[in-house]
Amino acid sequence: MSSIVDYQVQGHVGVITLNHPPVNALSVSKGLLQGVLDAIKEGEHDTAVKVFLLIGAGKNFSGGADITEFGKAAPPGLANLRDLVSYMDTVTKPMVAAISGPTMGGGLELAMATHYRVAITGAQIGLPEVKLGILPGAAGTQRLPRLVGAAVAVEMITTGDPVSTERAKELGIVDEIVEAPLLPAAIKYANRLVREGKPIRRASALTTAVDGDPDAFFAAARERVAKAFRGYPAPLECLACVEASVKMPFKDGLRFERERFEVLVATTESKSLRHAFFSERAANKIDDVPDSTPVREIKSAAVIGAGTMGGGIAMNFVNAGIPVKVLEAAQDRLDKGFDIIRKNYAATVAKGKLSQAAMDKRMSLLTGVLSYDDLKDADIIIEAVFEEMDVKKEVFRKLDAVAKPGAILATNTSTLDIDQIAAVTKRPQDVIGLHFFSPANVMRLLEIVRGAKTAHDVIATSMKLAKTIKKVGVLVGVCDGFVGNRMVHAYFREAGFLIEEGALPQQVDRVLEEFGFAMGPFRVGDLAGLDIGWAIRKRQAATRDPNERYTKIGDMICELGRFGQKTGAGYYRYEAGNRKRIPDPEIEALIVRASAEAGITRREISDQEILERCVYQLVNTGAKILEERIAQRASDIDIVYLFGYGFPRYRGGPMFYADCVGLDNVLAAIKRYEAIGPQWKPAALLAKLAAEGGRFNG
Ligand code: NAD
Repeated sequence: MSSIVDYQVQGHVGVITLNHPPVNALSVSKGLLQGVLDAIKEGEHDTAVKVFLLIGAGKNFSGGADITEFGKAAPPGLANLRDLVSYMDTVTKPMVAAISGPTMGGGLELAMATHYRVAITGAQIGLPEVKLGILPGAAGTQRLPRLVGAAVAVEMITTGDPVSTERAKELGIVDEIVEAPLLPAAIKYANRLVREGKPIRRASALTTAVDGDPDAFFAAARERVAKAFRGYPAPLECLACVEASVKMPFKDGLRFERERFEVLVATTESKSLRHAFFSERAANKIDDVPDSTPVREIKSAAVIGAGTMGGGIAMNFVNAGIPVKVLEAAQDRLDKGFDIIRKNYAATVAKGKLSQAAMDKRMSLLTGVLSYDDLKDADIIIEAVFEEMDVKKEVFRKLDAVAKPGAILATNTSTLDIDQIAAVTKRPQDVIGLHFFSPANVMRLLEIVRGAKTAHDVIATSMKLAKTIKKVGVLVGVCDGFVGNRMVHAYFREAGFLIEEGALPQQVDRVLEEFGFAMGPFRVGDLAGLDIGWAIRKRQAATRDPNERYTKIGDMICELGRFGQKTGAGYYRYEAGNRKRIPDPEIEALIVRASAEAGITRREISDQEILERCVYQLVNTGAKILEERIAQRASDIDIVYLFGYGFPRYRGGPMFYADCVGLDNVLAAIKRYEAIGPQWKPAALLAKLAAEGGRFNG
């Protein structure tokens, strides 16, 4: 028997323990599932055994499939989960699953193949496969609806969201909630089943309950799911499987589930979602900073500046229970910043998503200060003052004078050279960029910008800190705009050229929204405020290369006082109390005028050209970023785009998308646009990979 399954007979109970740390992943290749099958077969022949108990060693039952086996052929001769759960349906001694901790995917499918389930409080129970673009393929879509009814099963399987122990009990997934420790409680329960002569109870023998007419129910569900998960094929296939559980016998339902599973696994969307999943984990790996690098302790933090970013950054720390001192230049600005933070939390409390006590606790961890002396104990200090080099340098000189030795000194700059900032201190090894995205308390992305002299343990600590404050940290290098903004700048600029050449904002936005972006570039501009970019452009005007193409449309719109949603008008107009964009003939006239002034004859621009020009600008710039080693790997760029820029997850990120299109095709398109301007010179890395038939992502 496999060593990762332990089998012991305790009285009348054959106890099968999954022992595959850290989460009891259901490994085929290591023989875990075969081990469970062998244990069951052994117990079936043992007259002493009257009941089986399946339990996980450690904190949970099973987190599901072994992700290290994804995409790999299973070794022959070893049972997989489907083999195991179908065998379990033939067993004639009662079986109990003892559930604790995350019990997900295959873990729940295994538990549902037993006859009775007990759980302790604190478990998370769900079928999250849809999040990887697939469906529960070991009878999960057939057993869960039979246990909980069609409506709940549709909700659980199409969203992939788990339920608590208590909810699982209400739904009928769990039969009894028991007190920890789980093993003795579950053995007691199993013995009671035997004593009371409880029957075998197979989920496969039940019928799925549906409220009302099944056809009407599934038609309405299909409409809802299609709308909620636009672009994702898996939720609809999950729904079809639940429908099969109503309309087909169990055996046929299994066949249907398998067929739909095979279809989904092969989709680009599923490959993209799996790429996203693995890329998030890969981003934690830093080539020259091993996992064993010691980290510095972060027990207290400070933030300089209580503006848009500083307030949000401070919230991240107090949300994680880390006290923060916030320094401002004047008391009134501090008051203003704290007011906004308070209102932000109060809104969450009003929505019922945070208790008043939790809000009070968080606010109590925030201290406003006006003197740098108050920062001398902070383990990390993050600067979020105005985006001006001289102001930042002044702040860092002061921090260098007061911060304790070993404190991490971070800047939230979006564009400035971190090495120049570090150079004003006597400790450039302690200086790093922590680039949060707005709103900083909401957006998951954190670009961690390493300077030329940043110490390894400062990088390792920052990566760990990202997790502590629930961000997705991606290590990047110094360049204008780092990874995310440097690429998005190329994307926005191309969108501007497209409207100057003949498209309109509503067409460009529609194309990119149909591609899957939450918002097209002009809608984003209107939401973020057009005045910020305008101010930067005015500052850059004196040093701009006069031969560089520059579209004046953005400036002309700002000159009308149209700064976007906050002024009721930008690229679109907006009606009071409403965020709905309304295309504006005045803007169309302005754009037509701008084209004429630039000497451009407007032409019809196809949707395909819009899509290619915007997305391939991201790709070509991303390729240059890789060439320059600003990003460690293509998948890190994808993560930046998935978590910071609303790139559709089912397309895997810009670099993975390019891989899916085929780099030869991408290169051919880029070459078609080469005459438009220097931004279309293909990146050397792209040209090389395309010639080799290679991919950005391995
Ligand atoms: P902001 O103008 O809203 O806030 C800046 C705050 O810093 C103000 O409250 C100001 O009073 C304070 N301040 C200025 N000089 C100071 C000093 N010497 N000492 C103490 N406080 C001082 O600006 P913001 O949007 O929060 O941007 C801050 C930084 O974050 C900038 O570097 C910006 O590039 C970067 N950033 C901004 C965004 C964004 O979307 N707004 C996103 C990422 C990064």
